[in-house]
Amino acid sequence: MNASKNPPDFAKLRPATRLVHGGAARSQFGETSEAMFLTQGFVYDSAEAAEARFKGEQPGFVYSRFSNPTVAMFEERAALLEGAEAARATASGMAAVTAALMSLLRAGDHVVAARALFGSCLYIVEDWLPRFGVSSTLVDGGDLDQWRAAMRPNTKVCFLESPTNPQLEILDIAEIAKIAHEGGARLVVDNVFATPLLQQPLALGADVVVYSATKHMDGQGRVLGGLILGSRQLLDEHVHNVLRQTGPTLSAFNAWLLLKSLETLPLRVAQQSASAARLADVLAEEGAVARVLYPFRKDHPQEALARRQMRAGGTVLALEMKGGKAAAFRFCNALNIVKISNNLGDAKSLVTHPATTTHQRLAPDVQARMGITPGLLRLSVGLEDVEDLLDDVRAAAKSAGA
Ligand SMILES: *Cc1c(COP(=O)(O)O)cnc(C)c1O
Repeated sequence: MNASKNPPDFAKLRPATRLVHGGAARSQFGETSEAMFLTQGFVYDSAEAAEARFKGEQPGFVYSRFSNPTVAMFEERAALLEGAEAARATASGMAAVTAALMSLLRAGDHVVAARALFGSCLYIVEDWLPRFGVSSTLVDGGDLDQWRAAMRPNTKVCFLESPTNPQLEILDIAEIAKIAHEGGARLVVDNVFATPLLQQPLALGADVVVYSATKHMDGQGRVLGGLILGSRQLLDEHVHNVLRQTGPTLSAFNAWLLLKSLETLPLRVAQQSASAARLADVLAEEGAVARVLYPFRKDHPQEALARRQMRAGGTVLALEMKGGKAAAFRFCNALNIVKISNNLGDAKSLVTHPATTTHQRLAPDVQARMGITPGLLRLSVGLEDVEDLLDDVRAAAKSAGA
């Protein structure tokens, strides 16, 4: 790698600039765009150099299971965006969640998690961790007393998402971080819905932030990826070796796509959030719609908290149809531009019926407790012209009510 010029002081630069230039490490060719290093390993000038590299006495790359120049550029750029000391990339969001939790926990430990978790995260906490002797308590994340009551002497991790999927409840990250720290536990936040541009959990007191980079970071529905961010010490001491030895590695190709996508993340998130806010307001006026859930709307139960901890309402809204499942299905089927799919943060607007898809594994009483009613829909707003989207959802709402 060529270090001809001093890199800019990214701490003084704003997020959009960090996302275009941060982490870029040029080869001897001086390429403008970041290079893709599709290589399993690296060659050494001498046996002595190989020895020094393996011993960690000489900086450099050894094996792409745990370090690769393109993946390292993505990690560096993501850390600069988050304001984190360090980042590690993984093959998917679930690889990031699993590795983060497994890195911080051992047999005999206890986890407190908000019930409203992404389905696979719930599986990890409820079904998988117990196999390794880690118990858990699920709480209604908005009720701070439940968090306090659930803490035990062996609680080592508190885990939450905010806004939650799919009902967009807002959890108080700063208060929950205090409860975790008073109990000697670390707070892990899955920040997928808010994105690092709209919410920075580390600044609110969280210890670890995890992402599915599959969502807004790629933002174009092409690849899966994940990230774990936190202090350098925490990542070095707990996370790095687990990733190195277990190998949930992000491919250099996917890292390259994600690295390039980060350049446009601020434009996409700003546009998609602005469109989501407009769609939420328009859908709330439709007769077939019982209610709209969107964090920055006046009628959102935690609007004030959302405005305290987020910079905008986000790219996703939820709506509840008056006519239950039948009306929700009519709404989905009448859409022309918005596609029926389960990604989010995508350039394409996507609608999901959680009760029969993403959350169908949950028993009806658990769904009800989480607010996942038969009439609930999640709408991830994309980059189409907002007027076309407004026409599409208005027409679909009219057919759903008919
Ligand atoms: C998608 C998602 C995940 C899992 O990410 P993958 O990249 O699909 O493995 C975890 N948490 C949340 C909130 C998600 O939306």
